[in-house]
Amino acid sequence: MTKHKIAVMAGDGIGKEVMPEGMRALEAAASKYGIEIEATHFDWCCAEYYVKHGRMMPEDWAEQLMAYEAIFFGAVGWPDVVPDHISLWESLLAFRRGFDQYINLRPVRLMPGVPTPLANRKVGDIDMMIVRENTEGEYTTMGGRIFDGTDREVVIQEAVFTRTGVDRVLKYAFDLAMTRPRKLLTSATKSNGLAVSMPYWDERTTEVAKNYPEVRWNKEHIDILTARFVLNPDRFDVVVASNLFGDILSDLGPACAGTIGIAPSANMNPERHFPSLFEPVHGSAPDIAGKGIANPIAMIWSGAMMLDFLGRGDARYRAAHDAIVAAIESVLVSGPKTPDLKGTANTEEVGKAIASAI
Ligand code: ATP
Ligand code: MG
Repeated sequence: MTKHKIAVMAGDGIGKEVMPEGMRALEAAASKYGIEIEATHFDWCCAEYYVKHGRMMPEDWAEQLMAYEAIFFGAVGWPDVVPDHISLWESLLAFRRGFDQYINLRPVRLMPGVPTPLANRKVGDIDMMIVRENTEGEYTTMGGRIFDGTDREVVIQEAVFTRTGVDRVLKYAFDLAMTRPRKLLTSATKSNGLAVSMPYWDERTTEVAKNYPEVRWNKEHIDILTARFVLNPDRFDVVVASNLFGDILSDLGPACAGTIGIAPSANMNPERHFPSLFEPVHGSAPDIAGKGIANPIAMIWSGAMMLDFLGRGDARYRAAHDAIVAAIESVLVSGPKTPDLKGTANTEEVGKAIASAI
C-alpha cells in the first residue's frame, strides 16, 4: 500500500489552532478508509521562525520539501513581527511559483446551516468550482515608472500569458467539468477592454474546448460575471479565470456562500512534479487568535481535498473525501458551532464532533 508523505505547517495565529483539528479529521478518514499518511511537522513559515532566522524558511526549503507529495498548510501572517509582504512572498507565493502550483482550486458550495448574504438562496443553489490560473497572467513584477515624480509620470504594469500557461489551466478546468454532473464551464474574460491578452485567452478557450464536445461552455466578461455570482449563482458549475480575475472571483464566491471560516483551497501541480499545497482560504486572523474560537471547517475541508488529490481518482480516497464533507455538513446542521456561525462552541469541540461524525 502507498504511504503518503505530507509536510504539515500550522503557521501563525489561528493556523496553529485549526491545524490540530485538520489533522484529527484527516487521520479519522484515513484510518476508516485504509489510507496511510505519514505526516512530518515543520516549524517554518511562522513568526517564531522568522524572529530566530530572519527568514520564513531555510535556504534549502525546496530540496527538503521535494520529499513530500503535499503540504498541509494552516495560515501565515503576524503583522506585528513580520511585514505582510515578507510573510506572504517568502512562503505561499514561493511555493506557488517554485513548485509550479499553477492550479488554484476553490470549491464554493452553500452548506446547510450556513447563512448566505444572498436573499432567497438555499442549499444546492450555489455549487461551483473556481479554477484560477496561479503562476502568470496579470500578476508580474514587470513594468516600471517613467518621468518619476513629475506631472508627466507614466506607470506601466505588464501581463504575461503563455500558450503553455493558458492551455494547461483551461485543460484542467475542462477535465474537471467532465467529472461533474452538469458539465458546464464558464470562462472569465474581458476581451472588450483588455484588447491583447483576453482575446488570446478566448481564442485558446475555443481551441481547447474542441476536445470536450460534451462540455457546454461560454465566456462572460468579468464585470457581468461578478454581478451574476451575486444575482444568479446557480448558473455556475466550473468557472475558469486568469490570475487576477480568478483572485477576485475566488474571494467573492466564498463570500456569497457564507463565512470564510469554512472555505477550503488547493494550490496544485497536477502533474505531481512538485508538492501541492492545501490550505484554508482564510488567513491567520490575529483578531481572534489565542481564544480557541476559530472555525476549523476550512482547514478540515482542505484536508479532504488533499486526500482526493493523493488518491489520483481512486474511489477509496474519493469516499474518504466525501465522508469528511458529509461529516462537516452533519455538524453544520445539528452539531456544535463556533461564534462566526452564531454558536458557542470552541475550535476543538467542532473538530472532535466532525471527527466522530466521520
Ligand atoms: P490574509 O491577509 O491572510 O488574506 P486577512 O487578514 O485579510 O487574511 P483573515 O485572517 O482571514 O483575513 O481574517 C478576516 C476576518 O475573518 C477576521 O475578522 C477573522 O477573525 C475572521 N476569520 C477568518 N478565519 C476565521 C475562522 N476560521 N473562524 C472564524 N473567523 C475567522
Ligand atoms: Mg492578514
